[in-house]
Amino acid sequence: MSKEVVMDVAIVGGGIGGLALALFLHQRGIGCRVYEAIPEIGTVGAGINLLPHAVKQLDSLGLIPELDKVGIRTKDASYFNKYGQHIYTEPAGMNAGYKWPQYSIHRGDLQQVLLNAVIDRLGPDSVVTGHRCVGVENTGDGVTVAFEDPDGTLLDPVRARICVAADGIHSVIRKQFYPDEGEPVYSGLTIWRGVVPFKPFLSGANTIRVGWMPVGKIMVYPIRDNIDDEGNQLMNWVVTQERPKPDSMDWNKPAKLEDFFEPFKDWHFDWLDVPELLRQTPRPLIFPMVDRDPVETWTFGRTTLLGDAAHPMYPRGSNGAGQSILDGKILSQRLSEKGLTEEALQLYDKERVAKTAQVVLTNRKNPPDAILREVYERSGNQPFDRIQDLISDEELAEISASYKRIAGFAKEQLNAE
Ligand SMILES: Cc1cc2nc3c(=O)[nH]c(=O)nc-3n(C[C@H](O)[C@H](O)[C@H](O)COP(=O)(O)OP(=O)(O)OC[C@H]3O[C@@H](n4cnc5c(N)ncnc54)[C@H](O)[C@@H]3O)c2cc1C
Repeated sequence: MSKEVVMDVAIVGGGIGGLALALFLHQRGIGCRVYEAIPEIGTVGAGINLLPHAVKQLDSLGLIPELDKVGIRTKDASYFNKYGQHIYTEPAGMNAGYKWPQYSIHRGDLQQVLLNAVIDRLGPDSVVTGHRCVGVENTGDGVTVAFEDPDGTLLDPVRARICVAADGIHSVIRKQFYPDEGEPVYSGLTIWRGVVPFKPFLSGANTIRVGWMPVGKIMVYPIRDNIDDEGNQLMNWVVTQERPKPDSMDWNKPAKLEDFFEPFKDWHFDWLDVPELLRQTPRPLIFPMVDRDPVETWTFGRTTLLGDAAHPMYPRGSNGAGQSILDGKILSQRLSEKGLTEEALQLYDKERVAKTAQVVLTNRKNPPDAILREVYERSGNQPFDRIQDLISDEELAEISASYKRIAGFAKEQLNAE
């Protein structure tokens, strides 16, 4: 490649994965720039849980103090049936003995923490917005990445040694390499999400999952503390129901309460009034639960995929953002060890394709909320006298532990690594 090369790594997409990668590369002295399609990065999305394996990596970037300012350190995770009967509770994060906390956090707050760190450490020019990637060309010892502005006008192409596509579930670059793949595959489940100021419940830092499909399931957790003078938290909820495929696959698509409210109308528990929570939510969002079959490789010459572009997964195990952060950590390590080479990308690919494929497949069949499925099936969706008559504590703990091993956050292993 000629003198035109302006950077080491061009990162396409300024979401969680792209921004985290920029920080890991900078930490290792590798130059990069992030190209984001939208004109301005704002606080969009709803809540996510960031589990200790991802927080460990963000700790290595020195971001714990910033995360503490915006997120909530999750203390426990609990499961209930639709009658509000308690099934199982386990401690989470440092409460469970991990060396790192688990955070319940607004996706937009996490993105902002990462963005601020990138701007602070790499400089204001390190994130370029209003650049929608429309394709990439491998040119031997480098890449040429093509962009359009928000009006569809072609911009000057960008040349770099490596291109990383972190452009999310609708990745243009993945489509270029897998042109016949079609749309992400619908699971038969639709998710509605919302955030609303609400009184704390249970420990004030609990992630709860209640009910089961086909009737309806809800997950609720607080994502910001002390948001007003009335002791409210910003509460995040996610409803899942069996439905025909929604016509839009836009993360910001608004929904109507009446479309998903019915199954929850009587869920007035001592510790949480679910109908009230849903009714008070100003702007619920709808999204189809989709993923893609794992592919054999993400790497084509000097271009590779990362995050949702590489391994879109059902948001059922709190691993979408976390796995994108782990991708960035490993990719930066390999680029640092092997230089800006195809070999480095191949090593990253070999390690991460296999690991994330397991998470994608497990999220389909046995995510942590399989606990709720077991109880639903064994109880015939009826109230129980004693949960132990249906399922033992050991079996419940093993469902949860098995997911942790597969997704890479088994406590002993993570703490020892
Ligand atoms: C607006 C939005 C809201 C979301 N809300 C939730 C939520 O509430 N709950 C949840 O579990 N997950 C949500 N997600 C998904 C979640 O962020 C990801 O699953 C996870 O964090 C993995 O991150 P990622 O960086 O791979 O992808 P994303 O976080 O999706 O980031 C991809 C980025 O690439 C940009 N981009 C897309 N196409 C191009 C292009 N052609 N050129 C340049 N840039 C491009 C996007 O604008 C985005 O900033 C949301 C994603 C988005 C984009």
